[in-house]
Amino acid sequence: MTRHAGFAGVDQDRFERPRGFCVPKGLDTAVDTLPGVGPTVAKRLRALGIATVGDVLLHAPRRYERAADEVSISQLWGQDEVAIAGVVRDVRSRRIGGRRTIVTARIEDSSGSISASWFNQPWLVERLKPGMHIRLRGKLGRHGFDVKTYDVGEARATADFAPVYPASEQVPSWRLRELARAALDRYVHGVHDPLPATLPLPIRRDALAAIHFPADEAEAELARRRLALDELVTLQLAVARSRDDDAVAVPLPPSGELITRYRAALPFTLTEHQERAIEQIDADLSRAVPMQRLLQGDVGSGKTVVALYALLRAVETGRQGALMAPTETLAEQHFLTIESLCAEVGVRCVLLTGSAGSKRVREAIAVGEAQIAVGTHALIQREVEFADLAVAVVDEQHRFGVEQRKALVEGRTPHVLHMTATPIPRTLALTIYGDLAVSEIAKPPAERKPIVTAWVGAERSSEAYERLCRHLDAGRQAYVVCPLIEQSETRLARAAEAEAERLRNAELRGHRVGLLHGRLKPDERREVMRQFKEGELDVLVATTVIEVGVDVPNATIMIVQEADRFGLAQLHQLRGRVGRGSEQSYCLLVSRPKVELTDGAQARLRALVDSNDGFALAEADLELRGEGQLLGTRQSGWSDLRFTRLREDRDLLEQARDLARELRDVDGPWQDEVDRLQGAPEA
Ligand code: ADP
Ligand code: MG
Repeated sequence: MTRHAGFAGVDQDRFERPRGFCVPKGLDTAVDTLPGVGPTVAKRLRALGIATVGDVLLHAPRRYERAADEVSISQLWGQDEVAIAGVVRDVRSRRIGGRRTIVTARIEDSSGSISASWFNQPWLVERLKPGMHIRLRGKLGRHGFDVKTYDVGEARATADFAPVYPASEQVPSWRLRELARAALDRYVHGVHDPLPATLPLPIRRDALAAIHFPADEAEAELARRRLALDELVTLQLAVARSRDDDAVAVPLPPSGELITRYRAALPFTLTEHQERAIEQIDADLSRAVPMQRLLQGDVGSGKTVVALYALLRAVETGRQGALMAPTETLAEQHFLTIESLCAEVGVRCVLLTGSAGSKRVREAIAVGEAQIAVGTHALIQREVEFADLAVAVVDEQHRFGVEQRKALVEGRTPHVLHMTATPIPRTLALTIYGDLAVSEIAKPPAERKPIVTAWVGAERSSEAYERLCRHLDAGRQAYVVCPLIEQSETRLARAAEAEAERLRNAELRGHRVGLLHGRLKPDERREVMRQFKEGELDVLVATTVIEVGVDVPNATIMIVQEADRFGLAQLHQLRGRVGRGSEQSYCLLVSRPKVELTDGAQARLRALVDSNDGFALAEADLELRGEGQLLGTRQSGWSDLRFTRLREDRDLLEQARDLARELRDVDGPWQDEVDRLQGAPEA
């Protein structure tokens, strides 16, 4: 198939060509080079993530306006949104109090004429020229026709498919559309197409034009798919590049006596899925190519024992293992679990985080006395030398920047097991992790009963606490998760303290209530966790710091206060703190009093009540939020999927992988994009 040369419907002459000798500049030109963009507007645009001309062009529309009936001017009547088309007559501008301006133009068609008004777009005085053909969309207002969107020229369809952008109050959608037009006028001719001409998709330049000014929905969709392909190729190239094909690892011999003892020390038999993951890991470890495997599994599915297995395989041959977690709390949790298991098999394990672990610990790592090191990214800082690191486990991989992941591996080539407790839809996992091999623990240990989840209105929250107390009376333990208030840890901590105090004197009177939040010092935090683990506390009142890692099988009930404030994935993670033993466990989601829940909040709560399956929920989350945000805003640099719809674009994903393989060693315009992606800042 050949490329659509004159991509249907995109009339190149609709966009001014660059004038004179002006060489088209790159898309990384600052956005304030566009007309009407001063420092204030530039700042407002930055809040929308737009800093350059390229950002304007890649600001993906959320949807498109439906078609409006076109009527002749004499037929204008009523309040419906309609379109009119005609010729511009005289144009004027005036101020209407303060800094507000209004531009009016007489529009004339064969049936009559009307005064059309634009608010707060003073630059239109320059743009609207008498004699110009124009098509307007809007409705009758008090003084004439109030314009919502407009198109210059005879091309009649565009206003009907005007993009609706993620916008802000200060930078509305129409303004973004104006900017897109200006950006296209000035820069689109400089856009190269790095992809082969054989694709059955529009060329990049046409796609950029058509995504903002499509003739119809079909054209917009083709443009979207082309831009989606671009971002997927970029992503795949970045993934391919961050891997070192020439890296050599130490092949490990088959497992031996230490592993036998480890298996014997486990208080349970491994599930079929755990065994399969272990088999796959064994196969990887036996090769001289470093393992690059993703271990995916829902909360509580039993990944940690598998991860420790991989680490012990290193220890068994006299080498070291390292486990890296994204937060101190999580590292400490892993350490607690791993240390006690290690103790049983006589393996020395250390903790190294920003606040825990001293020079002595570093030395222990350097001389190989520490056989397993658990830590945060403190582990990958240059001062930390491993005597002989053979296996690294990276937990919650997507929270690490690419650079950090590289640093761990730099100069050393351990086998790496990436582990994620946040289930990611398989398609997305493939996108993000490229061709990492995937092991999946899809089923939790058998004797576990599914958690019963209920959504409780605030007016019935006392019943929720009565239920919780019944669990306590039966010797079980419980969590109460505090509302997610502001972003600030300090305020969160203060609110949690107050709430714990309140509960001690009210609903939870007579029970031993502990408090866990992010402002506790590490040893305080460890002490609280120890007390809870050993049953010295009945209830743990906590902020979301318990989201991952906390593992107390005797805790069988959780109340999440103001649950409607939380994200779906987060609630699922929180819920995973219960249901870890063989008892029936409960999660009670209490929604806020006296607020009308948004549709999104209701959908999230309903999804949680309906399903315990993290993968299904991840798909639902994807549906509710869109893939761009799935991994958390800009947290990872991987969140840049603006055009891709993974469920619909599976074919593009395959295509992108093939293309990335072809393009990988070619230096070209893609490299900049890959650089940018790889340099994406950490949250
Ligand atoms: P994940 O890290 O996947 O969230 P964990 O590895 O922390 O899950 O395991 C959750 C709980 O299940 C732990 O208490 C662990 O001891 C227990 N567990 C793990 N594997 C099994 C198994 N095969 N049978 C019974 N319990 C298990
Ligand atoms: Mg775990």
